[in-house]
Amino acid sequence: KSNEQDGTFSNGALVPFGTIDINPHSAVLNYGQGLFEGMKAYRTTDGEVQIFRPEENALRMRMGAERLLMPSPSVEQYVEAVKQVVRANKRWVPPHGKGALYLRPLLFGSGSVMGISPAPQCTFLIYTNPISNIYKGRTESLSLLIDNKLPRAYPGGTGGVKNIGNYAPVFQVVKEAKAKGFSDVLFLDAVEHKYIEEVSSCNAFIVKGKVISTSPTLGTILPGITRKTIIELASDLGYQVKERKISVKELLRANEVFCTGTAVGISDVGSVTYKNKCIKFKTGPDTVTQKLYDLITGIHAGLLEDKKGWIVKID
Ligand code: PMP
Repeated sequence: KSNEQDGTFSNGALVPFGTIDINPHSAVLNYGQGLFEGMKAYRTTDGEVQIFRPEENALRMRMGAERLLMPSPSVEQYVEAVKQVVRANKRWVPPHGKGALYLRPLLFGSGSVMGISPAPQCTFLIYTNPISNIYKGRTESLSLLIDNKLPRAYPGGTGGVKNIGNYAPVFQVVKEAKAKGFSDVLFLDAVEHKYIEEVSSCNAFIVKGKVISTSPTLGTILPGITRKTIIELASDLGYQVKERKISVKELLRANEVFCTGTAVGISDVGSVTYKNKCIKFKTGPDTVTQKLYDLITGIHAGLLEDKKGWIVKID
């Protein structure tokens, strides 16, 4: 539990978890000048602790910082800070198979501003929390709702970076979908309302024969690190992987649909509902989704060889 944790990295030092002082004039409170990242520390089957591709999260935070006019830690500083926090909180990493220690790096404009302008000072901190998989692993497949009432991101906006302001605007539509029994919303593009983009906290893929497709990163979807990893793993397995616009029509004809993200892992999508029609997809052990799930979770758990140097061990 967060308040029992051993350390949070805040402006260069490990400090016990606790509330932080924030200036009412700060740019994050007034103008949403803030970014977050989401990472996990995994316990391997032999009890070791490791993190996955932390440089990718560092680079994504740097990209977001550039967009929101904030200075950001270098890749080395970022990775070192994450390692320090995980090392200090090692005992909170759940046993293999029981979840992971979730890491939340934040970067925000903490300095005071009066006009609408970027903060003169920013804060970088990392806090942690042990978690299980949001969607209960793959014991339960997702049921998604396509609802074009509200797109998640607009061209030229901040959908391509992990801006804190991207998330509250989708609370309403996701809450409504959940109240109707859906797991989440699959968002469409904001211009034509025709192409699938992503889910509220994960990327979406479709499988049709030997071809696996996912929406392109054109600034409106978040370039997920799990997405990038799955593209590489699926290509290595001999699938043709395409990053291209996928129409709803095409999605509804897919064999399989799955979602990827650090928090959700790889979750198969059992159904997508569009205009009151519920289309079902193949799920279960004999799927491409399962193959990819086994590969990535095998790497996370130290069961499969880390051929690409994606793993950083925490000593
Ligand atoms: N899309 C959105 C909107 C997200 O919030 C996330 C979670 N970071 C993802 C996709 C998946 O990204 P990743 O695989 O890096 O966790």
